[in-house]
Amino acid sequence: MNDALLDWYAANRRDLPWRRTTDPYAILVSEVMQAWLDRWSTAASLARAPVADVLSEWVGLGYNRRALRLREACEVVAKHGWPDDLTELPGVGPYTAAALGAFAFGRDTVALDTNVRRVFRRLGCELSPRAGEGPLFNQAAIELGALVCRARAPRCDACPLEPECAWDGDPEVQRRPAVRFEDTDRWVRGRVVAALAAGDALPAVEAERLERALQGLVRDGLVQRDGKSVRLG
Ligand code: SF4
Repeated sequence: MNDALLDWYAANRRDLPWRRTTDPYAILVSEVMQAWLDRWSTAASLARAPVADVLSEWVGLGYNRRALRLREACEVVAKHGWPDDLTELPGVGPYTAAALGAFAFGRDTVALDTNVRRVFRRLGCELSPRAGEGPLFNQAAIELGALVCRARAPRCDACPLEPECAWDGDPEVQRRPAVRFEDTDRWVRGRVVAALAAGDALPAVEAERLERALQGLVRDGLVQRDGKSVRLG
């Protein structure tokens, strides 16, 4: 199946700027920003988004916190170089470590993001790179998940793995009820940070949601609380 996947990728790959580098710093930054790209995958979709959503995503999704972890990781790298076990870096979990390992260091790791997990789940087996195939294999698997084995409308007729695939069609294409962004904790966290930055009152949301957001922000070192007083940390 690897050959079918790699041949398909050679013929269908998109030329994305972050694929043109093996600089581990650039790749680490692009992985940190991946959630942003997942939400707004094109310039047009970001241009259509309400400004409030964009700002909320930035603070609420944790980009402030991610920026701090990224800086801490770079402090470690500046002192000791890139570790063999990349999960030793602050803010780097198994997925980012696998992606960095493959794309920056040419390792044969598998970066299991949501799309790749979905491809493997539908296929009914997990593929892995053969020796030396790591970077191409991962790019191909991610691309297949993004372009062909899509969550809601997989294009099985265009899929190079179709002859081997175990997926029988049904359950996953059904739409899950969409959760409004305003109903998420991320949205509240974003509002809290924006209010504190502007010197405004905390957002008027249910006490329980506000408390959960504050606790999360304190835990992440973005906000300090002293009795009833709350300020950016
Ligand atoms: S045949 Fe369809 S379900 Fe199976 S991997 Fe390809 S796109 Fe996904």
